[in-house]
Amino acid sequence: MPMTGFVLAALAETMKKGTSFGAPCLLENVLAEMVISAVPSIEMVRFVNSGTEACMGVLRLARAFTGKQKFIKFEGCYHGHANSFLVKAGSGVATLGLPDSPGVPKSATSDTLTAPYNDLAAVEKLFEANKGEIAAIILEPVVGNSGFITPKPEFIDGIRRITKDNGALLIFDEVMTGFRLAYGGAQEYFGITPDLTTLGKIIGGGLPVGAYGGRRDIMEMVAPAGPMYQAGTLSGNPLAMTAGIHTLKRLRQPGTYEYLDKITKELTNGILEAGKKTGHAMCGGYISGMFGFFFTEGPVYDFSDAKKSDTEKFGKFFRGMLEEGVYFAPSQFEAGFTSLAHTPQDIQFTIAAAEKVLSRI
Ligand SMILES: *Cc1c(COP(=O)(O)O)cnc(C)c1O
Repeated sequence: MPMTGFVLAALAETMKKGTSFGAPCLLENVLAEMVISAVPSIEMVRFVNSGTEACMGVLRLARAFTGKQKFIKFEGCYHGHANSFLVKAGSGVATLGLPDSPGVPKSATSDTLTAPYNDLAAVEKLFEANKGEIAAIILEPVVGNSGFITPKPEFIDGIRRITKDNGALLIFDEVMTGFRLAYGGAQEYFGITPDLTTLGKIIGGGLPVGAYGGRRDIMEMVAPAGPMYQAGTLSGNPLAMTAGIHTLKRLRQPGTYEYLDKITKELTNGILEAGKKTGHAMCGGYISGMFGFFFTEGPVYDFSDAKKSDTEKFGKFFRGMLEEGVYFAPSQFEAGFTSLAHTPQDIQFTIAAAEKVLSRI
């Protein structure tokens, strides 16, 4: 059965018993156990309804646990649309050229510190200038919201060390990378264990879900076990949990990530080769089911490098590909994803289309 049929059949069964109870349900425990056994940092997990909610909750928790207010995010990383994160936020905010969003009060972002991605020295400076005041660092462990950008090994090792040394928490926002780079997410892939993790997208199997989790001693701060309030009427509802459970069951079958890695490698290399053949300055990369490319020589280590990309050319490429029947993410500042539904024929078709389009733009 194709992936969606698999999930839809399970949803139809669950639906007969009710769509929402406004109370915890057994399926929440089933998905929670799957997430806990998959993701190295997660000992306890709380389900919410979106990645945005997960990031809002995890930030409140980091502040509650450390008793500190400030936090560091990286330029071009997106952590949902909550007020405190809408500073240099990448994704749609970047595509539309919005510096920040109107309607966000200054007071909401006054404790948001930012640094360029992959810039450890900038992070060290922020810790020096804000001694004892930083609750956490939050980051996309592989960036997908300024295009596809990977962390330098010394950067990701460095922020783990700096947070530990300064009594701050390390939060991996794995809303995009979770169950995509590996079954245990970027933290399994890189072998770095954060204190807290946010999830979304894949764990909902197409339904609205988010989650945050991490070390038991921190998670026990969350109500009703602890004093940090966070709740949601529809959180952990049986439909979303069912879609998540059946999606993860499919993903944990042997060979999943090897297959994704194989087709994504073919696709990314194929597009870059086509770019070379047709004389375009391009760079790009991939990990498992996630990839991206820029219309610039590269290398791209942060958002300001990403912005050197020829976005007008990207627009031509995007529209040309649509005409060929291939729908890429409609922005240079988004990563691409492959899925188990993509066949090797789809990949070959896409590369051939890219070569056609690149030769006429
Ligand atoms: C998509 C995304 C979010 C926000 O999730 P929503 O479900 O859209 O609210 C947060 N962080 C990252 C890294 C994302 O990619």
